[in-house]
Parts: sequence; structure tokens; C-alpha cells
Amino acid sequence: MEHLLVNLFHELALKGENRPLFLKKAKAHVKRALKGLEARLEAQWPMALLFRLPQGAWPEAAARLSATLGVETFAKVLRLPPDLKAIEAALAKALEGESFATFRVTAKRTDKTFPLTSPELERRLGAFIQERTGAKVRLKGAEREFVVRILPGAALLEVARHPGPGGLPPGVSGKVVALLSGGIDSPVAAYRLMRRGAEVVLVHFHPFPLLSGASREKARAIAERLARFQHRVRLHLVPFSEVQRRIILEAPKAYRVVLYRRYMLRLAEAVAKEEGALALVTGDSLGQVASQTLENLYVVNQAATLPVFRPLIGLDKGEIVKEAQKIGTYPISILPDEECCTLFAPKHPVTRAELSVVLDTEARLPTEELLELALKDREVALFTWPGRKALEEGASRAFIMEHGPA
Ligand code: ATP
Ligand code: MG
Repeated sequence: MEHLLVNLFHELALKGENRPLFLKKAKAHVKRALKGLEARLEAQWPMALLFRLPQGAWPEAAARLSATLGVETFAKVLRLPPDLKAIEAALAKALEGESFATFRVTAKRTDKTFPLTSPELERRLGAFIQERTGAKVRLKGAEREFVVRILPGAALLEVARHPGPGGLPPGVSGKVVALLSGGIDSPVAAYRLMRRGAEVVLVHFHPFPLLSGASREKARAIAERLARFQHRVRLHLVPFSEVQRRIILEAPKAYRVVLYRRYMLRLAEAVAKEEGALALVTGDSLGQVASQTLENLYVVNQAATLPVFRPLIGLDKGEIVKEAQKIGTYPISILPDEECCTLFAPKHPVTRAELSVVLDTEARLPTEELLELALKDREVALFTWPGRKALEEGASRAFIMEHGPA
């Protein structure tokens, strides 16, 4: 039997009147992340939860918590009697075979009847560890930190502490619709909003049946991966080939991509209205490709009435790739596909689109009809995590509960 201590993200403590609601949502999110592992909640404090885990459940619990938004750190802890000798005995056992050069002890005493104050306990245990390991005390930047909490009736000794992703739990900041391309950038943009507590609904535009359905499968795989952070993710798969066909017929070649983007924003906005979302999110990064010059972003943006968030606008590719690797979407994003924009993209796209050219072209397009048609033929998939499959396989994979026509 092992114990698990989960510390919530420090920012949650600063939410004023909303604090109880934010903490409640964060705790519910943590409990859902541990679903099926038979973790039993033994105690809780405003900013922490203590679970008892069955033997062998630690690795899976740790893997899940490292993706659980709202978790600042989590730790394997030993639950001991609140007694100095018992704490020292447990420490001695925990130190067996361990080697480190520097360490610190942090004691937190909430039970004031314990005979030593926190600083006294820190010094006692510090001397004990030093004697056994020869390691030096270092208060800042120590290699190892031992945390002891003295509670009424129990002492908790942290054996190994791990960082969580931080962030706010899903849904506390309202809802947004993120445009998910299947490339490297947009999954990271969606994750950034999730991390700030927005409930993200994904929309992917695919060229099926004009081209293969590869991009749809990729978008599904990415949504499945992102479900780890949000637990429930809806993905709208919107057919885009008819819109593209009409644009190719009517628009100056160099303007195709700018026009695709304007229709994507309009369709995403229609989904946002249905979903009750108040903003759109894209993975644009200033100047990265021709469609992301300031002039083009300006012209594209005019098609939206909702705010369009571009959380990666000031990042370069290297920084985005690093984050994509961290959240696990990178290996999926680099798989080959037939994306709707690249295949029909002109060799020399306009870099300074003019709004007047765009509006002239759109005047010749049956915009309302095209939007309706695309939305009518869309599919909606729901991804949940952790799911039945994750439990059956003991793996931390998302489980597709249902997908198909809405
Ligand atoms: P990404 O890596 O996210 O594909 P990118 O660098 O390829 O970005 P663009 O192709 O110019 O950039 O796309 C800019 C943004 O437009 C994307 O980040 C995404 O939010 C949106 N977008 C592009 N294509 C699609 C698509 N097929 N479905 C949904 N959104 C899309
Ligand atoms: Mg792309």
C-alpha cells in the first residue's frame, strides 16, 4: 500500500471569491484522472489531496498525474505515526541505496501539539540524514528535498516528488473552439488554452472525399492525445472540399489560402455559436509561412466576429516543437497526410493580401450555402480519458467512446 499526495497549482489559491469553485473543479479533475485505479481519498486540505493507492498502482497514477491540469506537484508519501522515532526509522529505510550530494528538509507542522517546532524538526532530521549519507544541507537548489508534514494523528513523509503540468482545471475559464489542422502548431495552441482552464472544442477541416481521409485520422489521433489534459474532448470533422472547389474556381490563384482561412474561421464560428463558445483559437505564428504575414492575418481575421486567440504568435518553430514533444502530439503531427490546404496551394501565395480583392471574390461565392452544406455533412467525435481501454490494457491511452454523425 502506498500513499499519494497531490498538491494543487499555486494560482488556484489566488482566485478570490471564485476560489472554492476553482478548487472544487481541480479536485474533481484529479479524482477523475485516477479513475479505475482504486485510489482512496484519505484526507484533503484546501490545496492538497491525500490518496491511498493499492500496491503496484503508482506508475500508472504517476503517468496520469503528470498530465493532469491543476496539479502543481505530486509525491509518493509514507504515512507514519506522528512520532520522531518512527519518522527517523522510515527515513533510514528510504535512504537505503540512495546517493546525493546535497539535500534539504522541509517540515510543516499543522498539529501544534507535536513536541518539536518545524525548524527544530528540520534540524533534527537534517542531522540524521547527514550522518547517514554524508550529503550536505543546501537550502536553495538542493538535489533532494525531504518534506515532512505533521498532521493531527499522522506524519507524512514525501519520498519522491514530481512536477505536474500546473495550469487551471478544464472549464473554469469558459469555452473556446480551436482550429486543429493536424500540423505541429495547432495542437500546441489548443493545449495552451486548455492549460488556462478553457474547455476546448476542436474543429478540423478535411478534404475527404476529394482527397484521402488521412488528415481526419490524424486529427482524431491528436484529439485522443489532447483528451489526456481535458478528459472529454469533442472534435468536429468538417468536409471542406466543396468550399475549396468553389474558391479554386473563382479566386485569383495567389489568394486561395487566404480565402480558405476566411471560410475556416466562418465555419469555426458557426460551431462556436452552437457550442456556446466565446472565442476561436489558431496555431498561427507571425511570419512563419506566407499565410501568416501581418497583412494576411489582418485580412483573414476580418471574417470573424468572435475574438481569435493565437497563443503561439510570438513563438518560433523550435519553441513550438519542444512543447509539442512535451505534450506528446509531435509524433502524430509529423505523420504524412493529405491536408486540404497544401495540395491546392499556389507556388507563390500572396503575402500582402488586399481586402478588396478578397471581398470581390467572395461576392461571387454562395457563402451561406457553402457553410450550411459543410456543417450539415460534418461528423462529431467524442474522446474521453482515462477510458475503459486504458484500464483494460493498463496503458494510458485514450478511449474513443463514440464517434460518428452527430
Ligand atoms: P499547423 O502546424 O497548426 O498546421 P501551420 O504552420 O501549418 O500550422 P497554417 O497551415 O498557415 O499554419 O495554418 C494556420 C492555422 O490555421 C493552423 O494553426 C490552424 O489553427 C488553422 N488551420 C489550418 N488548416 C486547418 C485545417 N485543415 N483544419 C483546421 N484548422 C486549420
Ligand atoms: Mg498546417
